[in-house]
Amino acid sequence: TKSPIATDVAIIGAGPVGLFAVFELGLLDMKAHLIDILDKPGGQCAELYPEKPIYDIPALPVVTGQELTDRLLEQIAPFQPTFHYGHMVERLERLPEGGFRLGTDQGLEIEAKVVVIAAGGGSFQPKRPPIAGIEDYEGKSVFYAVRRMEEFRDRDVVIVGGGDSALDWTLNLQPLARRVTLIHRRDAFRAAPDSVKKMRALVEAGKMDFMLGQVSTLTGSDGELSAITVRADDKSETLISCDRLLPFFGLTMKLGPVANWGLNLDENLIPVDTEKFETSEPGIFAIGDINTYPGKLKLILSGFHEAALMAQAAHRIVYPEKRLVFQYTTSSTSLQKKLGVA
Ligand code: FAD
Repeated sequence: TKSPIATDVAIIGAGPVGLFAVFELGLLDMKAHLIDILDKPGGQCAELYPEKPIYDIPALPVVTGQELTDRLLEQIAPFQPTFHYGHMVERLERLPEGGFRLGTDQGLEIEAKVVVIAAGGGSFQPKRPPIAGIEDYEGKSVFYAVRRMEEFRDRDVVIVGGGDSALDWTLNLQPLARRVTLIHRRDAFRAAPDSVKKMRALVEAGKMDFMLGQVSTLTGSDGELSAITVRADDKSETLISCDRLLPFFGLTMKLGPVANWGLNLDENLIPVDTEKFETSEPGIFAIGDINTYPGKLKLILSGFHEAALMAQAAHRIVYPEKRLVFQYTTSSTSLQKKLGVA
């Protein structure tokens, strides 16, 4: 294992609130690392409604989920945060010498003086298709994400789904797999029309297969798949031999590992005070949709406010000797230098 990364603040979740926390921390000279299970920033805004308009962000009369994410990235760029995408934070422990250590499912270790949980509605996790016994194959021959394309070289790959993930991976894996079969229950797709066109052209050219139906059974042993059965609408069944299955059934939000970190919880939310937005564990803060307090509104603007007050409290932990002077970005040259505008 590699030696842990050391930083001032570790932020769990790169949704809008986690992103803005980088700004408030940065103004007060604290460096941040962000970790998110998604492969991109923006949380719910980017994953659930990138093209929908939001009307209640102060001073932005209308902005889409993706635009808001892009603007936040631009705003925090001067503070050069480090992003760790595709990582699920699984472990969080207090170090005897002070501070915390976080561990991810990908083996990343981060040591931080302060932890900010900005985990929103929980971590985005792939939906498991309703196929009996699929758990036995997960991580060995059934995968919900492609981490390394090489794993699929010269394999008989079956991809299930009709969205962008299913179509994108069909097109990306087709050149290196032995054979790719795409299975979807309808002959209509929710993916980019251009990807659907490319997929159909490959089928026309005999370079891959497309089948209508649903996967009903898996055949194999010791987690290694050898075939699947596909059931069509008319109940007829077809056996397809394959050794890799990639189901793309969308994502759901689950609280996930946050529940195991010894924090007080109230109906899957983390109670905090409204002065510092600190949890029951000193040095661990919770901001955005994941927290609860009297009067809480699950709005992006509430999370932004919470981030500002959290940063004031985090400063006392990261710089116990330093006095904090209240300053406006409009008039403080020292803040403007940090932002790279003075
Ligand atoms: P999230 O956006 O939920 O991000 C949390 C991130 O943390 C996720 O990416 C998740 O994968 C990650 N995460 C969690 N646990 C872990 C872990 N253990 N390891 C790694 N990563 C983890 N709000 C408004 O203010 N105005 C609106 O108009 C509005 N419209 C909305 C419309 C829709 C359809 C939806 C679904 C929501 C809307 N909201 C709106 C709500 C708004 O999107 C949320 O308040 C906001 O996204 C919360 O931000 P967040 O950063 O707290 O959490």
